[in-house]
Amino acid sequence: MAVELRRVTKIYGNGAVKIVALDDVTLSVEAGEVIVLMGPSGSGKTTMLNIIATLDRPTSGEVYIMGTDVGKLPEGRLERFRLRNIGYLFQSFNLVPYLTAEQNVALPLMALGVKKELALLRARALLEYVGLEKAATLYPHQMSGGMQQRVAIARALATNPPILILDEPTSNIDLENAAVVLGLIAVTNKLMKTTVFVATHDPDVARIATRVIYMRGGRVYEAIEPPRRELKI
Ligand code: ADP
Ligand code: ADP
Repeated sequence: MAVELRRVTKIYGNGAVKIVALDDVTLSVEAGEVIVLMGPSGSGKTTMLNIIATLDRPTSGEVYIMGTDVGKLPEGRLERFRLRNIGYLFQSFNLVPYLTAEQNVALPLMALGVKKELALLRARALLEYVGLEKAATLYPHQMSGGMQQRVAIARALATNPPILILDEPTSNIDLENAAVVLGLIAVTNKLMKTTVFVATHDPDVARIATRVIYMRGGRVYEAIEPPRRELKI
C-alpha cells in the first residue's frame, strides 16, 4: 500500500475553540492510484494532503507512507524522508523568488546531496519535460502563473518521488496551462506509476481519477470509482 491513514483525526486550536479538520478518517491507497479529493471549502482536503505530505501531524491515528509509520520517524529524519518520497505542489506555486527556474527545480536534489552541476542538468531535463526548456534561466516574476506552476511541477518531480500531492493545481492558472498541468500529472502517473493525490474544485481533474473522494466536515462522505477510461495523452 502506498498510503494508509488509520483513524486519523486532526483537531486545530485548544481551549475554547476547537476545529475538527479531519474526523476519524481511514483510507488505503494503492501505488499508482490517482485520488481526487473534492468537497466544499473547509471540508478538510488541505489538512489531509498536509498530513500525507508529512508537513502536519495528526492529533490521533496513524499514517503509513510507503510502509513507514511516519509518526515514529524522528523530526530529524522527516525532511529526508519527505524529499525522497513526496512531491508537493502548493496552490500558489511557492517558487523561491530570487532563484531561476532551473535553480528552483535543482533545490530538492541539492538538498539530497546531489552536486550542483548534476542537479542543474537534471533540472533542465525536467524543465524540458514540462515544456519550459527556454525558461530555465528566468526568475519567477518573469513568468506567467501557468509557467510558474509548470516549474513547480518539475520541482515536485525532481527526486522522482513515488507520491505526488497537489493542492488545487489548476485553480490559479489559465485554461491552456491547466490542460498541460493535467496532462503532465496523467503522463507521470502512467509512466512512473506515481501515486497521486489532488484536491480540486475543478470537475475536469476528476477525469484522471481512479477514485474520487468527496469530503464533508472532515469526513470521507462518499468515494466513487469512475469507470476506467483510457485517457488520451
Ligand atoms: P479545505 O482544504 O477542504 O478547504 P482545510 O483542510 O483547509 O479544508 O480546513 C479544514 C478546517 O480546518 C477548516 O475549518 C479550516 O478553517 C481549519 N483549519 C485548517 N488549517 C488550520 C490551522 N492551521 N489552524 C486552525 N484551523 C485550521
Ligand atoms: P484551502 O481552502 O485552499 O484549503 P485555506 O484558505 O482554507 O485553504 O487555508 C490556507 C492556509 O491557512 C492553510 O495552510 C491552512 O492550514 C491555514 N488555515 C486555514 N484555516 C485556518 C484557521 N482557521 N486558522 C489558522 N490557519 C488556518
